[in-house]
Amino acid sequence: MNPHRRLISVVLPSFNEAQGIQRAVTTIAAILQLPGYDCEFVVVDDGSRDDTFGRAVELTDKGLPVRAVRLSRNFGKEAAILAGLLNATGDAVVTIDADLQHPPQLIPAMINAWEGGAQIVHGVKRDRGNESWMATLRARVINTLLTKLGGVDVRSSSDFKLLDRIAVNAIKELPERKRFYRGLAGWIGFRQVTLLFDVADRQHGHSGWSVRSLLGLALTATVSFTSLPLRIVSVLGIFTFLFGLGVGSDALHSWIRGEAISGFVTIIITLLLIGSFIMISLGIIGEYIAKIYDEIKQRPVFIIDSVHEYQTRPLASLAGSVVDIAPVITAVSQRDASGS
Ligand code: UDP
Ligand code: MG
Repeated sequence: MNPHRRLISVVLPSFNEAQGIQRAVTTIAAILQLPGYDCEFVVVDDGSRDDTFGRAVELTDKGLPVRAVRLSRNFGKEAAILAGLLNATGDAVVTIDADLQHPPQLIPAMINAWEGGAQIVHGVKRDRGNESWMATLRARVINTLLTKLGGVDVRSSSDFKLLDRIAVNAIKELPERKRFYRGLAGWIGFRQVTLLFDVADRQHGHSGWSVRSLLGLALTATVSFTSLPLRIVSVLGIFTFLFGLGVGSDALHSWIRGEAISGFVTIIITLLLIGSFIMISLGIIGEYIAKIYDEIKQRPVFIIDSVHEYQTRPLASLAGSVVDIAPVITAVSQRDASGS
């Protein structure tokens, strides 16, 4: 490898993408035939039930620079992206969905922005494509919640990003286990720019998100980026106190005047209201405690089952050309260093 050429890593989190992974990689590889750049692909098989890993390995047989990383089970997209970042060696890393719903044609523009001094280039959705109403609603809810509550502007944001090495290292250093990549990439700072794109339709397979995993992501996102819900608990407490004060003094007043207290309905309503406030508050506090519990367990975000490494050339021809195997060597030491 010519040391003056810059290496672009492309990270593809892949869950049950056997049908489309080869097309995705070859399409992106064709787009990345840019003068002055080399590219490598990190396909993270997030515990797929199909042969995503095998298909990725086949690509290396065809001579494509693909590092295939298989996780020991399905850890979710957030974990898969992190596994990809940890196994990417490039000067810049692009994270992109494996189903080609993020247009790879935008990558050269991202690289241009990066060469122009941006350290993080965010792909921002202009049109959400033919997404189901469910997907659109969930995106709206998550994004608005976070933008309003957390002060992190993730509206229309996506996981389609280009990160300079310095930003990748910053994200790698963050100790938290439950991650929300979109939020973190905004939070770490550096020089950031956004590029608009239109979401394409999915070509193969179907969306790997269940309602449960989405709710989980929304919760992780909220709990990681804002403690406002906890403040809402305090506000609820103040409201209940004022409400209680009102109803209480009214009851006391009636009692002093010797009037019969006709308050069965009031009591029931008060009890139910306060009861549900308490339950909601406990639930909110519980989410934060669960988050603390998850973090202190210090379990790894993902576990790697196996890695299939690419070689820039057949081993026999490598003798004497240390520079040529540089990406392979860095990749191995990178993994050792990260302890995974
Ligand atoms: N994905 C993953 N792990 C999961 C779910 C999804 O790595 O548990 C990957 C998936 O293979 C795809 C990307 O994340 O490359 C986006 O997933 P999907 O297309 O299912 O989500 P959507 O486009 O509906 O947001
Ligand atoms: Mg998709």
